[in-house]
Amino acid sequence: MPEYSPLAGGAEGPRALRPLLDTVLDALAEGAAARCGPLPAGGPEPVRRRLEAALGDPLPAEGAGEGPALRALVTALAEGSADPADPHCAAHLHCPPLAVAAAADLAASVLNPSLDSWDQAPAASALEARTAAALAALVHPRGPAPEALVTSGATEANLLGTLLARERLGHRLRVICGASAHHSVHRAAWLLGLHPPTVLPTPGGVLDPAAAHEALDRLDRLDPAPGDPLPALVVATAGTTDSGAIDPLPALADTVAAHRTHRPAVLHVDAAYGGPLLFSPARRGLLAGLDRADSVALDLHKLGWQPVAAGLLTVPDAPALAPLAHRTDYLNAEDDTEAGLPDLLGRSLRTTRRPDVLKVAVTLAALGTSGLAALIDATCEAAAELAALVDAEPRLRLRARPGISTVLFRPAGATDAEVAALRRRLLEGGRAVLGRARLDGTLWLKATLLNPHVQPSDLAALVKLVLDQLDGPARPGPRPDQPEGSPT
Ligand SMILES: *Cc1c(COP(=O)(O)O)cnc(C)c1O
Repeated sequence: MPEYSPLAGGAEGPRALRPLLDTVLDALAEGAAARCGPLPAGGPEPVRRRLEAALGDPLPAEGAGEGPALRALVTALAEGSADPADPHCAAHLHCPPLAVAAAADLAASVLNPSLDSWDQAPAASALEARTAAALAALVHPRGPAPEALVTSGATEANLLGTLLARERLGHRLRVICGASAHHSVHRAAWLLGLHPPTVLPTPGGVLDPAAAHEALDRLDRLDPAPGDPLPALVVATAGTTDSGAIDPLPALADTVAAHRTHRPAVLHVDAAYGGPLLFSPARRGLLAGLDRADSVALDLHKLGWQPVAAGLLTVPDAPALAPLAHRTDYLNAEDDTEAGLPDLLGRSLRTTRRPDVLKVAVTLAALGTSGLAALIDATCEAAAELAALVDAEPRLRLRARPGISTVLFRPAGATDAEVAALRRRLLEGGRAVLGRARLDGTLWLKATLLNPHVQPSDLAALVKLVLDQLDGPARPGPRPDQPEGSPT
């Protein structure tokens, strides 16, 4: 007989889980208190040492038991985490998940539905069908049959968008994107065996429709014969990773439409970051033209406060997804489909697939679109506030007003190397996690605000942390709550 190891599911599962969850929650609190900042101080080495001490032998012959293992490793992970719930953790599009979404995700782990066949996910597949279609209708309100696939993120959604374009228009497809497009667009072209994308300079930070127009015109010279045009995919971005800039979508949609008279062409919009602005009545105007895209990538694990992963690929018309259809007898036999069992295999390139839709559906049910809009608006307003603080500080230079919630700035007169070193010093001290972005040939500090509860005092403190690095010692000082020399 194996030693008793309770299962999570079934009627008895919750009883077994409850004390384990108490342990997890205590360990999370303890780890966060031990870290007392956005990032563990001291760089990679002390984190690695503490983690390895907590882990011990990663493949022990005899286990320590459930409680001790959970306590040791969850505490070490929490203590050694970059915590986006800390208002000074603002480097990346790395959001602090909502408690309600994390709680829903626990249920997904317990029930473990797998969305590759109906008999593994009867309710989860019904939930995904409804929620995905509703989200798609938000993106494509005029689409004949808006539909969405749940993805692991925009990397997968950009790959799927590119794949659908290739399947629709052929393997000679040429991809055209801006220099500010996400690197996953390049990987998608590489993975799909396409010609490397034509990259257009984006001097103003956005893709210029006139440049896209010229690039499409230039394809004329590559066409194998008159009347045999190479197909094209234009990839626009709604919220660039570096600066949150939104490409001029209506003009780009016009450009693609104008070329369609003589060349097969489609528009994919990578709205990984900006897409959720659709929830905000005050800000959805920034996404005008998004509904004219042939496919859209959108992440809810950025401006949607979901635990990773929560991505979507949306299309205005469900039949566009037909190329993904796939049949295998054990998951979606033809006679099963004919008998009425939903066929799920064409909803992803993955086979086993978590019900990431549950946390999304619970979040929407709990907050409503107005609740999400309030979080989005608060976050964008905080970014505007941070930008104003930076702008008012003579020792700092603001690059531009934030388009969404990304604030780029740098110390006035600093070299790129000084900017990079300043960022690393803040990381090393565990005081602030800022990102970096190279734009217009200059290196900027990047604050990507995604914490909707950030206070004006947090923003002022963040500016002060940066300024302190300018006057201050080359090495980070101790945190105010950690006397010098105390063990960390
Ligand atoms: C984050 C991001 C991606 C990648 O998305 P993942 O969810 O990390 O796979 C793609 N495009 C843009 C614009 C992004 O910001």
